Amino acid sequence: MKSNEIRSKFLEFFESKKHQIVPSAPMVIKDDPTLMFTNAGMNQFKEYFLGNATPKNTRATDTQKCLRVSGKHNDLEEVGKDTYHHTMFEMLGNWSFGDYFKKEAIAWAWELLTEVFKVNPEILYVTIFEGDEEDGIGKDEEAYNFWKEIVPEKRILLGNKKDNFWEMGDQGPCGPASEIHIDIRSEEEKAKISGKELVNQDHPQVVEIWNLVFIQFNRKADGSLVELPNKHIDTGMGFERLCMVLQDVKSNYDTDVFTPIIREIQTITNSSYGKSEEIDIAIRVIADHVRAVAFAIADGQLPSNNGAGYVIRRILRRAIRYGFTFLDQKKPFIYKLVATLSQQMGAAFPELKKQKNLCENVIKEEENSFLKTLDQGLVLLDQIIENSATKEISGKKAFELYDTFGFPIDLTALILNERGFKLNETEFEEELQKQKERSRSAAQTKAEDWQILREDDEEEFIGYDSLEAQVNITKFRKVESKKDGTLYQLVFNLTPFYPEGGGQVGDKGYLESSNGNVTYIVDTKKENNQIIHIAKNLPENLDGSFKAVVDAKQRARSASNHSATHLLHQALRSILGTHVEQKGSMVHSGYLRFDFSHFSKVSAEELKQVENFVNARIRENLPLEENRKIAYNEAIEQGAIALFGEKYGDAVRTIRFGDSMELCGGTHVKNTSEIWHFKIISEGAVASGVRRIEAITGDAAKDFLTQQSENFNQIKALFKNAKDPIKAVNDLQDENSALKKEIETLLKEKAKNVKGDLKNELTEINGVQFLAKQVDLDGGALKDLSFQLGGEVENLFLLLGSANNGKAIISCYISKDLAEEKGLNAGQIVRELGKHIQGGGGGQAFFATAGGKNPDGIAKALEEGKKFVS
Ligand code: ATP
Ligand code: MG
Repeated sequence: MKSNEIRSKFLEFFESKKHQIVPSAPMVIKDDPTLMFTNAGMNQFKEYFLGNATPKNTRATDTQKCLRVSGKHNDLEEVGKDTYHHTMFEMLGNWSFGDYFKKEAIAWAWELLTEVFKVNPEILYVTIFEGDEEDGIGKDEEAYNFWKEIVPEKRILLGNKKDNFWEMGDQGPCGPASEIHIDIRSEEEKAKISGKELVNQDHPQVVEIWNLVFIQFNRKADGSLVELPNKHIDTGMGFERLCMVLQDVKSNYDTDVFTPIIREIQTITNSSYGKSEEIDIAIRVIADHVRAVAFAIADGQLPSNNGAGYVIRRILRRAIRYGFTFLDQKKPFIYKLVATLSQQMGAAFPELKKQKNLCENVIKEEENSFLKTLDQGLVLLDQIIENSATKEISGKKAFELYDTFGFPIDLTALILNERGFKLNETEFEEELQKQKERSRSAAQTKAEDWQILREDDEEEFIGYDSLEAQVNITKFRKVESKKDGTLYQLVFNLTPFYPEGGGQVGDKGYLESSNGNVTYIVDTKKENNQIIHIAKNLPENLDGSFKAVVDAKQRARSASNHSATHLLHQALRSILGTHVEQKGSMVHSGYLRFDFSHFSKVSAEELKQVENFVNARIRENLPLEENRKIAYNEAIEQGAIALFGEKYGDAVRTIRFGDSMELCGGTHVKNTSEIWHFKIISEGAVASGVRRIEAITGDAAKDFLTQQSENFNQIKALFKNAKDPIKAVNDLQDENSALKKEIETLLKEKAKNVKGDLKNELTEINGVQFLAKQVDLDGGALKDLSFQLGGEVENLFLLLGSANNGKAIISCYISKDLAEEKGLNAGQIVRELGKHIQGGGGGQAFFATAGGKNPDGIAKALEEGKKFVS
């Protein structure tokens, strides 16, 4: 069965059990401070488990793009070395939100595997949670009893907390799990040792394929567990592992999910898979990583220097390094695999198809720059080896290479090994540990449990219509972090505060109690579907009612910049073309920033057109047409622009100004005339194929233009208020270059005269024509003069000094024959004399110069120079 069919069969099966098929959430998570990447199918549903939101449908099924390369789930180092862990993989899942529980979850999983997919039940093992004393919970008898009805007891095993108790994080929903493992070894292998002994033992052919999680507890900040009122089902099955089983192969990489890419890698790199372990690992690493990186880029996450972007960069670099070391690839090649990937997965994940060009460009540029780093690193490593007194290289040095230059440590170790050197690995580990400590303690935050003040209210956002409201605090908690110190997070029953999101910053403002006390809200964020107001201190009487007031000025500026961002987006698409896609946006009160895909610099002429386009829309006084609740499909049909990598619900909000229509949750002006004016202040590259425009609107644009005209007036005044200041500047430039030319001629003239003088002043010492003299010309002229004189006079030893703008130069010329005959070296001589002018220099044996910062020492240096000939 082909992988595409396997995926569909899974979804159809659960659809037949009344589950709604939902799309995969983006792999890159944008608005959640607790998680960078989706690492399990349940991430997009966690609000339902937390009870912060109510699902429309209590049963769902999907395939979710997951990435396990950071945080709690990090499989990166295993990937490629084994045959069943990936960085990016698809997790098939079925969910119950307070609907069915263990009985159905177990029965359906079994039915799908053994009846629909016809997996031989004899090769399956299941596990149940054995219980945990510390948490005070016993063996999961309930699950055991359901399994007993369908699986012989000898194939039901007990599992510990590590394998059979799922937790979302340190706090939150959790519960016991049942895993389904499969034994795909040959009969011969099975006869040697029972599969039962190999479950959860990291055997590549006795692997976990499906995890059924029974979410029945909530873990509190103090570590204790409480029963949830509503119990949920959360299951996850590795799609690639399922394909391995159903396609009857022994490795995920032998399924049709991977074979086309592996074939392509072999062709491009002229290597073959299946002959040597080292090369096989490299090929697997590359096949895996190109998927992770391409999917991330298609989701809007470009490789970068920090955060999620840095994780993506590291994955790609790992692939480049394996190609470099084991497949001898010294030129970019990974980008070439994107075509195969998008052809193969583009049907299930259209974002990959649409963003193919961008993926290729970005990956190629990353490859180029990292290959350069590798080259430089090799040179540095050579130096380290050369300068080392012993055969062991210090871990500190290797760490420096790793940390500052991004040179991979395993490559360092490999090269050292080849050269007969050793790396002090303990020392390296220590340095690495120290660095980890540093970043950990910087990032550490500790959140206390929420203190609930009112149970019944669900927080309502009224900020599109009001900037003020009378509110109650429903809950709050204290959060301590190294970075921000102590902060309080407050949730209200309703709020006019806009939480950071969709690129727009969160609102600031204040709370005023009935007796006039004020508490400032310094930021507003959204977490787990709740709007959280951040304050440095708590209001006095928490039970009271408060006037919540948004900083209207800041909000108006953000709104102006946000609406202008939409018009800019429209302008770029109509002037540069519809290949322009939003790649990031930041809407502050002060300015806006917009990143978009485009393959060349935007010319000054185009920028002017873009500005004019936006300003024309502003002057058309286009009213805001907002639709707060429209079906996603309908909005798209009407021409609304949606973003890749953004998670949209079934009902969306649309913002329209004339022909510009976008899906957007941000705040906007009521009429484009409020933007007043749009001014681009910069345009540049962010990555290959991605440009960035920064612009300002409203008051900021007004201030900018006033300042510009102020500057212009000042310049005009400098030209005695010339009628045509531009012509005045041009004239000045012309005059300046004419003068420069004149000076050059004069200097040449001077040098000629000096040459004549010098020739007359030469004295003969021991058969050498010697002169030491200060002439005050620039370095180039000293050189010319020396060589000209050298061409006319034999056996010349000429020392010249020059003082110019507080800097000193000494030059030394020695006729070639003379230098050889007497063993003189101009380089050494200027180095020695250079001390008097507090400087240094060097050059060749017959001509050298030294520069320094003490002109007063020139005389002394020239005086001393005599000793070399006498
Ligand atoms: P393992 O012990 O094999 O690492 P896990 O316990 O980390 O698995 P879960 O977190 O329970 O796995 O994820 C659910 C399912 O997703 C697993 O049963 C497996 O089939 C699949 N899976 C987990 N991690 C990976 C990965 N890195 N690559 C491919 N599939 C994976
Ligand atoms: Mg794992």
